[in-house]
Amino acid sequence: MIRLAIQKSGRLSEDSLNLIRECGISFVSSSYKLKTEATNFPLEILFLRDDDIPGYVQDGVADLGIVGQNVLVEAGFPDLEVEKLGFSKCRLSLAILRSEGYDSVADLQGKNIATSYPQILGRYLAGQGVQAQLHTISGSVEIAPSIGLADAICDIVSSGSTLLGNGLREVETVFRSEAVLIANQQLSAEKQELLNQLQFRMQAVRRARR
Ligand code: ATP
Ligand code: ZN
Repeated sequence: MIRLAIQKSGRLSEDSLNLIRECGISFVSSSYKLKTEATNFPLEILFLRDDDIPGYVQDGVADLGIVGQNVLVEAGFPDLEVEKLGFSKCRLSLAILRSEGYDSVADLQGKNIATSYPQILGRYLAGQGVQAQLHTISGSVEIAPSIGLADAICDIVSSGSTLLGNGLREVETVFRSEAVLIANQQLSAEKQELLNQLQFRMQAVRRARR
């Protein structure tokens, strides 16, 4: 039996469940259950918050997980990635108030930037030779500039309309992300074989979709 953690409810959930089903794996899921067992493959599915998935896979509480690269890299475990899944593509971008001028990322020197991704943003800014004060907030990042909490934000850009509605404009792409399959790095031989079978099926599903 191998354990796979997926997001309980959110933007990854439906595509994750569809992928497992398209791999020919049957299971019954109900929105209030925290786990379920497949009926025709030795797989147990755990339903968790996406932010918790990298840590659980790193620690071996779950053997496998499906999570966005943004969350995986921010958690500090990029090496757990074993397969790109091609859905939930999005980007982390820097945005500033539309009323502000902007020439280059150097304009952010010394500024206050609100984000839920301090690790990814910190590395990006260091690479650009820019020093800024990062303020980590967990939600509603896009309102920070209009209420005077920050000069800029770094967040997932869903649609231009969210930015527009908050008087913001996108100025730099910091990170591109998609959903990935991740795996614990000390799987038993038996679990490694199950992972190989799953990856084989996932690759076939992706080829069939193209
Ligand atoms: P949870 O309650 O599990 O913590 P959440 O609110 O943190 O959920 P969601 O908004 O459901 O997370 O997003 C989950 C992931 O989906 C993101 O981390 C990102 O990888 C991806 N994602 C976010 N926004 C988009 C988008 N507009 N388009 C495609 N993928 C996205
Ligand atoms: Zn989350």
